Amino acid sequence: MNALRSFIPARLLTAGVLALAAPAGRAQIQPAPKVPLSMASRTSRTQPRRASVVTPPQPSGIAAINPPAPTPVSLNRRVIVLDPAHGGSDSGAQISDTTVEKDVTLAFAFRLRAMLSARGFTVVMTRDSDTPTAPSPGAATLTLDDRAGVANHAHAAACLLLHASGTGDGVHLYDSELEAASGATSTPPWLTAQAAWVSESVLLENELASALTRSEVPLVTGNASVRPMDSLTCPALVVELAPASRDVDSINQTDYQQRIALAIAGALLVWENKVQAPPRISSAPAAINPAINPATVPRSRAGVQP
Ligand SMILES: [Zn+2]
Repeated sequence: MNALRSFIPARLLTAGVLALAAPAGRAQIQPAPKVPLSMASRTSRTQPRRASVVTPPQPSGIAAINPPAPTPVSLNRRVIVLDPAHGGSDSGAQISDTTVEKDVTLAFAFRLRAMLSARGFTVVMTRDSDTPTAPSPGAATLTLDDRAGVANHAHAAACLLLHASGTGDGVHLYDSELEAASGATSTPPWLTAQAAWVSESVLLENELASALTRSEVPLVTGNASVRPMDSLTCPALVVELAPASRDVDSINQTDYQQRIALAIAGALLVWENKVQAPPRISSAPAAINPAINPATVPRSRAGVQP
């Protein structure tokens, strides 16, 4: 996608991402949204985040007497998901006369995968060729929901959505605009599933930002509502590669990409010991504690039938 710089109107900023949309009628792993997500706009850190969509249930009645212990959402600390954006008929941004975004994201994903594998990580890629090999063999392009489905299935410690832009320099990191929720429900809303993970995504962003800064890579950070990031149930970021210099084709330089990949891989080594899965919030009514005699509990407290 294009660089999400503050002086670029929001609609232009998301144009590259909108181009990701796959043809209709494709099989999807998760129910597809009927309403297009508002593709929005990057916001600064000082602006209030949007209202939370996933809200924890309020303690009441019997459940408050003996609330179920929250169980963490499953998470594999040694698994990283890389999503090289675009591919197939979707070229992404035209970075120069000879470079298109889909090729940059795939090449960079290969570099990062090699470094992560060498450090003992299991790397799941949403595509490893110009056209996808999974989950829809023969398909022209992965849909955004396909990508989110692959990512969510991995229960990864980090999901990095790789984009590239000819605008700006260095690396641009974005986490979701969603308001952080305090826990994950068993069936989170598809379009806002990331809300439960936003706090971790911000911490992940800080980890990567520190490593890139130490490696003297120019950095822009912010948040943006970028599909399919808001549907991801893992710490998730957009990592957008920009050129090393005014020469936009410098984005393809091996040593430049290696320096960035090395910084990210190092940050993820630290991250695997820090990441915390959010508690799972039960959306079902809590079971009655058998130690409590229902006859002694006022019905008004829980509506429990004797
Ligand atoms: Zn892109």
